[in-house]
Amino acid sequence: MAMLSLDIRSLEHGAATVNAVLTPDDGVWMEEDSPRPAGEGIRVSGRLSTAGTGRYYFSGHLDGAAQQECRRCLTPVETKVHAEVHVLFTTPGGEDDDDPDVFPVGGAQGDVIDLRPAVREQWLLEVPPFAECRPDCRGFCPKCGADLNAGACGCAAELDPRWDALRTLRGQPE
Ligand SMILES: [Zn+2]
Ligand SMILES: [Zn+2]
Repeated sequence: MAMLSLDIRSLEHGAATVNAVLTPDDGVWMEEDSPRPAGEGIRVSGRLSTAGTGRYYFSGHLDGAAQQECRRCLTPVETKVHAEVHVLFTTPGGEDDDDPDVFPVGGAQGDVIDLRPAVREQWLLEVPPFAECRPDCRGFCPKCGADLNAGACGCAAELDPRWDALRTLRGQPE
């Protein structure tokens, strides 16, 4: 089984090839994480190698899809996500501890590199916060709720701001 957690001893004789999946139900996800990956999860591939004493570097990419809703008409939208992932891991206690872009080498013995938190973070950065089913989606009429992609409702004229301006003008005292 391909893993997203690696023992640093496996890097003694050279870089490790990573090709694994972060599933949507993995324990690394927080309750508020949205959207999670659809389908089998996020495919993560790349290479993990040593980068000096107590330093390890992962370089690769992630591929997945997010299931979202069009923010205008609520149609389900699948967003493909492809992103580069470059992460530095260091043994805690060094000069990089305060760097938010550096992840600590973990595990009870300080010998485990867990790629999952870095993949989760990159995923949440890459997924667009709002999806649209198409660039010119017209959404719902805010007044009558009609799906404007299916055609105009009768409210358009009333909602036109130019009419509001006209009404304001007429309502003003002479
Ligand atoms: Zn839409
Ligand atoms: Zn309407």
